[in-house]
Amino acid sequence: MVQVKMESNLLGANELLARKNRSLFAGQGLLVVNLMSSPGSGKTTILERTIDSLDGQLNMGVIEGDLYTDQDAQRIEKKGVQVIQINTEGACHLDAGMVGNAFGQLPSGDMDMIFIENVGNLVCPAEFDLGEDFRAVVISTTEGNDKPLKYPFIFSQAGVILLNKIDLLPYTDFSLDKFSDDLARLNPSAPVFMVSGRTGEGIKTWTEWLLGEVKRKKP
Ligand code: MG
Ligand code: ZN
Repeated sequence: MVQVKMESNLLGANELLARKNRSLFAGQGLLVVNLMSSPGSGKTTILERTIDSLDGQLNMGVIEGDLYTDQDAQRIEKKGVQVIQINTEGACHLDAGMVGNAFGQLPSGDMDMIFIENVGNLVCPAEFDLGEDFRAVVISTTEGNDKPLKYPFIFSQAGVILLNKIDLLPYTDFSLDKFSDDLARLNPSAPVFMVSGRTGEGIKTWTEWLLGEVKRKKP
């Protein structure tokens, strides 16, 4: 009983901070994307490819959530993008307060968009609104077909879905038909991009769509 009460208070406090973040982001005409997946699905690799593909067309900042390390932040920094690291010290999700603090440390000015790489986890990150415009959920072909039905909440909340490791499709039992059928029931409106972080396949199509979203957000 007590735990349930604590959780709902936590979520209530988060909701207020998320609202604050959202109006802050909107005031600056920033598109903010919450990037989520299980560990090892390829969030950081997709980010690296996305930055390369955009080739300076957008002024981007990245907020990197990680349990303990700054390895992913270092990879993004090498691409010449502003990065703020959040170490959650074991917490398995980011919350709006953490993101608000990190955002305050990004150099303000003429940024167009922010990617927030969430902690690799398909469960509780979905419960925490960070103030983002939409959520990008990554799933990879090597994880198998069962993920959307096993974690329906995160997939139903996604604004866009990226199916990664499409280059490995022939070596897996992943069924594109089953995947499409499951998503048609869970989330028929989210666009799905098939990409490979390793080979770069499909990345251009995804970044062109993203550019369109950034333009729609600009005042
Ligand atoms: Mg990562
Ligand atoms: Zn968590």
